[in-house]
Amino acid sequence: MEIYFYNTLTHKKEEFKPINEEKIKMYSCGPTVYSYAHIGNFRTYIFMDSLRRVLKYNGYKMKHVMNITDVGHLTSDADTGEDKMEKAAKKEGKNPREIAEHYTNIFMKDIENLNIDMPEIITKATDNIPQMLEMVQEIVKNGYGYETSTGIYFDVSKLDKYPVLSNNSVEGQEAGARIEVDSEKKNPYDFAIWIKAPENHIMKWDSPWGKSYPGWHIECSAMGRRYLGENFDIHTGGVDHIPIHHENEIAQCKGAFGHNPASYWMHCEFLLVDGGKMSKSLGNIYTLDQLQEQGIEPLAYKLFCYSSHYRNKLNFTFEGAKANQISLNRLRQGYANHKNGEENVDESTIKEFEKRFHQAINDDLNMPLAMGVVWEVVRFEKKSPKLAELLLKFDTVLGLKIDENPQQQTESIPEEVQKIIEERNLARKEKNWAESDRLRDKLQELGYTVKDTKEGTEISKT
Ligand code: AMP
Ligand code: ZN
Repeated sequence: MEIYFYNTLTHKKEEFKPINEEKIKMYSCGPTVYSYAHIGNFRTYIFMDSLRRVLKYNGYKMKHVMNITDVGHLTSDADTGEDKMEKAAKKEGKNPREIAEHYTNIFMKDIENLNIDMPEIITKATDNIPQMLEMVQEIVKNGYGYETSTGIYFDVSKLDKYPVLSNNSVEGQEAGARIEVDSEKKNPYDFAIWIKAPENHIMKWDSPWGKSYPGWHIECSAMGRRYLGENFDIHTGGVDHIPIHHENEIAQCKGAFGHNPASYWMHCEFLLVDGGKMSKSLGNIYTLDQLQEQGIEPLAYKLFCYSSHYRNKLNFTFEGAKANQISLNRLRQGYANHKNGEENVDESTIKEFEKRFHQAINDDLNMPLAMGVVWEVVRFEKKSPKLAELLLKFDTVLGLKIDENPQQQTESIPEEVQKIIEERNLARKEKNWAESDRLRDKLQELGYTVKDTKEGTEISKT
């Protein structure tokens, strides 16, 4: 079945044609590990996960690289401000490597809890410094780079076209607004590819221009080239990468080896909070741990992300996420009901469900539509292990672990039911088994299943 992806480069949905029919080469911009990743960041990694899983569902193998940025990302995506890693190190009284290790470990744990299908190669920027320096030297040799008192800059006026992704759209104008005046730059959009380190800078390497360190954009260009070569299929990131980071990656590749490296550039829209921007100053940046404190599993957050197409903005609210925890429980219960069912379902019905699911995911990862099919299967009146099997197949794309036990009900239990549970607990304490059984039947009639365990009585909606 054909796959269609929206390509930011051409501004349209295109049929996906891989370079190699068997293996897809893909690069994803990874986290800058100076702090905790927030749920907005994870929306982008959930999108990356869906993309991998959809390609694998279609029979492709993957060679996928994700970087860990542990140097060179300045506090402004353009070339001003401090290195984020060094700033965090100063604040926390540690060295940048300790900061990187600490937050990388937390990121990896979060990614695992989200059941993100791991890229084949995860690489740190600081493990690729020689490749970055080599690329900077090529750019300079080819006439696209020049030296200033602060570093080596890329001369965008040497390109046939710049920008190519943002295409003078709103994103492009935003980028313009962020450009700072630097009298040594030849053009306002020129950007640093290699930065001369001030005396007190900790992370720095020898180069023909003295002790210095890489610019954030050159890192991804060099790592992509090292592991995937000069032509690969897909490059991903969040929409904020379109106007600066990815624009500059393309420019650098053109300067070093003459062309844009990726056929498809794909970007995930932003997660908003209460209809607005997530920002530290508003105090509305949430981590997965904070969601868990409110009884929301990481996988319920993942399900929440499927409620909107990745190219649409998604508004986060705790109510919305809690509703998805309940939905995740129902999904798992629905899977269990089919697994334990004994009815038969026609092959044609199963094929039709499969086809509709497959069409939805192949249509630029339309997860809301695919979830619609999933719910139809869950709610199908005949309960059959064949449908449980189909749901498991769908879960290779969803990655929701639908075969796990549903979490204890998070819906509040009505007072009437609560009273019967208490009466029953009393009856059991008094070893009045007849009364306890009678009350259990009564709960059953009201739609609640009771299970007595060593730890106590568990109650769930039937
Ligand atoms: P960073 O660690 O800042 O480089 O960001 C990691 C990833 O998260 C990048 O791909 C960003 O584009 C993405 N990102 C940042 N904020 C959001 C957000 N609010 N919603 C979705 N993705 C985001
Ligand atoms: Zn990148």
